[in-house]
This record gives sequence, C-alpha cells and structure tokens, in this order.
Amino acid sequence: MKQRTISKEVGYSGIGLHTGKKVKITFKPAPVDSGVRFVRVDLEGNPQIAAEISKVIKASRETSIGEGEVKIQSVEHVLAALTGLDIDNLIIETNGDELPAADGSALPFVQVLKQAGIVDQEKERECLELKEPVSYVKGDVYLVALPNEGLKISYTIDFDHPVLKTQFASFIIDEKTFTKEIAPARTFGFESEVKQLREKGLIKGGGLENAVVIGEKGILNQEPLRFPDEFVRHKILDLLGDLYLVGVPLRAHIIALKSGHGANVELVKKIHGPKEKRAIPKEEMEEIQKRIKTEKILDIKDIQKILPHRYPFLLVDRVIELKEDKRAVGIKNVSINEEFFQGHFPGHPVMPGVLVVEAMAQVGGILLLSKREHSGKLAYFTGIDKVRFRKLVVPGDTLRLEAEVIKIKGRMGKMATRAYVGDKLVVGAELMFALVLREGE
Ligand SMILES: [Zn+2]
Repeated sequence: MKQRTISKEVGYSGIGLHTGKKVKITFKPAPVDSGVRFVRVDLEGNPQIAAEISKVIKASRETSIGEGEVKIQSVEHVLAALTGLDIDNLIIETNGDELPAADGSALPFVQVLKQAGIVDQEKERECLELKEPVSYVKGDVYLVALPNEGLKISYTIDFDHPVLKTQFASFIIDEKTFTKEIAPARTFGFESEVKQLREKGLIKGGGLENAVVIGEKGILNQEPLRFPDEFVRHKILDLLGDLYLVGVPLRAHIIALKSGHGANVELVKKIHGPKEKRAIPKEEMEEIQKRIKTEKILDIKDIQKILPHRYPFLLVDRVIELKEDKRAVGIKNVSINEEFFQGHFPGHPVMPGVLVVEAMAQVGGILLLSKREHSGKLAYFTGIDKVRFRKLVVPGDTLRLEAEVIKIKGRMGKMATRAYVGDKLVVGAELMFALVLREGE
C-alpha cells in the first residue's frame, strides 16, 4: 500500500470541548515521509508539533500534544480519522490550542478529508507488524496487543451505572468499516459528573450537540443513539486516535478492557519504546557533535548513546579522536576484572583476539553512527578481511583502537582498523559494515 495524503486544502471550524474556544483548522497535503504535523498559525513563528508519542503532554479525558509553551489539546478524534482513512502525511493548521469538538465523533473530519480527496503518494507505506505480544495492565485496566495481519480492536467497557453497564465490540479496522461503524460514534459523559468537570475548568464547550450525556434514566440528547453500543464504539475511536501516535500504521489485534487515553498512551509507548529509547535525542546528538567538532573526547556516556552495547560487551572506554567520515581512535583499558578472563585460558589471562577485533569494530561503529544522518541506526559487522593477530593482549594493557574509512557507499562501509598496545601493533584487520534501521522502524 502506498503512503497517502489529501489532494487539496480543506478547512473545518468549531469550538473546543474543554476550552469552549472557537477554532479553525485547515488540513493541507504533505509530502511523503513527512508524517502529520500540527501548526499553530496563531502563534509567532508558526510553531509545529509532530503527531508523535514523544510529544504527548496530557492523556486523561483527552489527548494533548505539545512542546515548551506550545500545545494542542483534544487531538484524538482527528487522529482517529487519520488512522481510519489511512492518511500518512498531513499538515493540520490550527488557530487555537484545542481542536474542534465537532459533533463529538470523528465523522465530520472524515467527511471533510474525503471531500478534499485522499490520494496515493509515490512511496510505499511502512507498517509496524508486532512480532510479540505487548501489554499494559494497571488495576482493572487491560490493554493487550497481539501480533495480527491487520489492525483489529476488541474492546470491553464496564460501568456501574443504571443506563450504561457492560458493552463489548470487535472490529477489523479498514476504511469502510471505520467510516461506517466507528467514525460516527460520539463521545459521552455522565450527567452526574458534568458539574464536577465544569468546576475543574473542563468541558466549557461541552453540550448535547457534541456529546452524549447519560442521565440516571437514559440519555439527555434529542438525537437518539447512533448505535445501541455507541459508547464502546467511541472508546474504539479514541484508541484508534491514540494509536496514530505509534508513528506508523500498526498491524496488531488490540484487546482492551476499561481503557482510556492514559493507558492507551502507555501502550503506545511500550510498542514504540525500543526505538524511542535507542535513537539519540536531537539535543544530545548536537552536544556530541559539538564535542566532535572541537575534538573533545567522547566519554563512556556519549559512547553508550551512540552504541547499543553495554557491559560486559561494550569494549570501548573513550574516544580521543573523531573525524567524521574519516577516522576515529578509541581507548580500552584491559583490566583483570573483565568477564572474559574468567574462562579464557584460566590461570593464563589473555584477551581473546576476536574480542580485540570486536573492540575495533565498535570504534568503527562509533565513527559511522556519530554522523547525524545515521543517528539511531545500527552498524552491523558484515565481514572481516586481512585479519592478523600479532601479539597477545593481557590484563593491564591499554588498547589504542584506530579505525579509518576506506570507503562508504550507500549503506555499506569498509574500514582499516588497528589495535596497538603502546607502539606495538597487536591486531590489524579490514572490517565491513552495513548500516541498518533498527528493528521495528
Ligand atoms: Zn473521544
């Protein structure tokens, strides 16, 4: 399936559910791989916020994203429309800090986006196919994501209320099903909590035109329920909105029990987690690059940001020289406490030659991955050539590990590497690398 955007600009106006403020949003086409970005056109400099899990600042009753002073509230129903319509790239301009509540559902957004026309783009979309179950459990809230070919949601709500008790629904989500069965389901609230929420400064824009309000004897709205189980369908809608924050379309079966935005966001973090943790945050990357430019050394903390390796397999202590695309020099103090001395020729401690090569490869990896455009990738060691073990390395030695680029072409690289103790060459080898995206990206 190709990535999708809309073919022309289209607008929608309304009031925010919580703020009660009038707001106009404009959906605009966006190029491939650009994702979804919100733009605050009412603020100086028109700051942008990407629809990403790392930008979530609040997830209770609604989902808000933000950065610094800039925030956008109640993004979940618009994002649900994007999940349901398989839209990958979009600019959403807004002149306020909360998106319109519309009629409490995602249908008005679906209608305007369809009216603009949804179009295929030149690049394939990448999906995240879950390889193993991921779950989030807290108290009586359960969210379990299981590997599945497509996206499927099975949801159970359970309230202790005379009108709304337990509802269950399960749908395989595609554009047609979403548009017909999920998008029209409106948000809901209980009459008994309206006063309390208003006192908290919430739902200032809330009314019977944008929410189903449930009283002790039935719903207060003139408009009847759109589905007998509209409530659980809306919870599915909310979950689909929060799932957009995974960053790529998810292929999984999600089983939810009594979930809400807070739990949804926690599940997304777990699904998304490894990538988030391993890619170097922008500011840290800038700091590392500044150090490289001024030829300050990289310490073990910097190295751990660049390489995924950890004790006992991280074999570089610091980097004392680094010239992008050219050369790096690392240092490894070989101590008697190293794990490998335990069993490698007991009584006669020698550092295994292949581990010296691994240390050389790690310096090569740092050289490749410290480049901004490679941040967050992995350097796989694909081959060794011309390797010579010349001298033994023993406890107390300090290894000086040098890596020099022979060539880099596309994702493949070749380096000349040498390890010295003092001025003696102990190991020399040519190493081949392939740069790959981390799993799940
Ligand atoms: Zn909702």
